[in-house]
Amino acid sequence: MVSPVRNVVIVGGGTAGWLTAAIIAAKHRSRMPANFSLTLVESPNVPIIGVGEGTWPTLRSTLHKIGVSETDFFRECDAAFKQGALFAKWTTGADDDFYYHPLVLPQGFSQVNLVPHWLRDSQGQSFCDAVCPQGKICDDGLAPKAITTPEYDALANYAYHLNAGKFAPFLQRHCTEKLGVRHVLADVQQVKLTENGDIKSVVTEQAGEIEGDLFVDCTGFASLLLGKTLGVGFKDCSDVLFCDTALAMQIPYESEHSPIATHTISTAQSAGWVWDIGLPTRRGVGHVFSSRHQSDEAAERELRAYVGDAAKGVSPRKIKLRAGHRETFWKRNCVAVGIAAGFLEPLESSAIVLIELSAKLIAEQMPVCREVMDIVAERFNANTSYRWGRIIDFLKLHYVLSKRRDTAFWRDNMLPETIPDRLQDLLLLWRYQPPWFHDEFDRVEEVFPAASYQYVLYGMGFRTEVEADAIAGEARLAQRARRENEVQTERLRAGLPRHRDLIRKIVERGLQPV
Ligand SMILES: Cc1cc2nc3c(=O)[nH]c(=O)nc-3n(C[C@H](O)[C@H](O)[C@H](O)COP(=O)(O)OP(=O)(O)OC[C@H]3O[C@@H](n4cnc5c(N)ncnc54)[C@H](O)[C@@H]3O)c2cc1C
Repeated sequence: MVSPVRNVVIVGGGTAGWLTAAIIAAKHRSRMPANFSLTLVESPNVPIIGVGEGTWPTLRSTLHKIGVSETDFFRECDAAFKQGALFAKWTTGADDDFYYHPLVLPQGFSQVNLVPHWLRDSQGQSFCDAVCPQGKICDDGLAPKAITTPEYDALANYAYHLNAGKFAPFLQRHCTEKLGVRHVLADVQQVKLTENGDIKSVVTEQAGEIEGDLFVDCTGFASLLLGKTLGVGFKDCSDVLFCDTALAMQIPYESEHSPIATHTISTAQSAGWVWDIGLPTRRGVGHVFSSRHQSDEAAERELRAYVGDAAKGVSPRKIKLRAGHRETFWKRNCVAVGIAAGFLEPLESSAIVLIELSAKLIAEQMPVCREVMDIVAERFNANTSYRWGRIIDFLKLHYVLSKRRDTAFWRDNMLPETIPDRLQDLLLLWRYQPPWFHDEFDRVEEVFPAASYQYVLYGMGFRTEVEADAIAGEARLAQRARRENEVQTERLRAGLPRHRDLIRKIVERGLQPV
């Protein structure tokens, strides 16, 4: 007798809960309601975290797959285009210290690695400008597509900035109205186990007992099912990534015509960094810092100095953070997604993309019966542990490449015992060979591929020693790629609309549906 997996219960209705619900429901819609049900239980009393406004280009295909119209998404979630991140004052702290981590691949990426060619002759250009058009598009405040470009298509790759307070309710409407998800507003007070230790049901105050075959823990920092009930430990990473507190503000624009930045701006401070995200209606600005290195008062002073007069009368919201993740992510019949699985500082917007990838893996590998669930769980855990590890490496890279030594925060970040071994090895390797697409970033759907490492390494002045004769044979290929980039850059700069203008048109007229 096999025990089929037919009833999935998600606990938590933040971005993690609703995105997971949408991805699973869209995949299993044809089995519903006869052979599959999806219930999302959400507390009416515990608010969602309500921050998390920077995303990764994966969200485009996710929204498309779950059947959302991109126009509706722009209209209802205050969305804007994101074409990467600008990192200011991370390398030296000087006023002219900045670089882009864009979202397009370097020109000709699969044929030629442009890094050594650029290192030998930069022609006075930053690495980003030498290999792709997106830095210039961002400088000019241009959108990554035109109003005639169909929904989800791009002229330059893009992700979104969105209003986190509107995104979860938007997904909720879509899940309940279009995808057959049952929504229960109730507080989980108790979790009941079966004799073998699986979760049998959650007992709620308002809706009684809800049974399930598979439970997805999306309860945020509470980690009610995986952490508290099943006792899975937390692997603290604050010895590598020091930031543990955020101060968040919403800042109005000077006027409704003010330009909207089409990239996240991340400006390094004395013990952390400030994020600045432009939505059509306001900016979301916040300071993520290490409380071991700076007091709340000093951090707020730095945040106010960054924002200037526009911060007058605005009080920041303080959020305590805990860097790290669960020791395992799927135990017995319970899998955690979102903050319930872990949290890392939002330096590269890695949380929502990880939610998408985890939910996709659960949806695609949905165990048919309990008997095979442990095998699926093992795969999920191996995959997810790998992803957390790579994200930690990539975030730490930003600190390790910094030449700032002006405060204890920056000096402590360079202590060898705070740098993961794998990252130390890679940094040594990259002194002699630059990362490229066939390197060990070989997973399908790698969160940060080799191109991301190139943009950060060479944006921050890293040097790789390459012998001239080792690359001589591909000189013409490299020249052609750089010329193609110049042509494409000019063409896009001449043809793309201003970011705010395009968003206004999308809201008024809509994009061409796909
Ligand atoms: C300062 C900051 C900035 C961030 N910036 C980014 C960013 O730019 N990009 C990015 O990708 N990510 C970012 N993140 C992370 C991102 O916000 C989260 O990963 C995302 O919002 C998912 O949160 P969640 O759904 O896991 O948790 P939450 O939003 O906390 O949701 C938890 C849910 O669980 C429910 N719940 C809790 N207890 C119970 C109970 N007993 N019974 C029933 N329900 C319960 C709550 O009601 C709620 O619905 C940021 C996070 C912070 C703190």
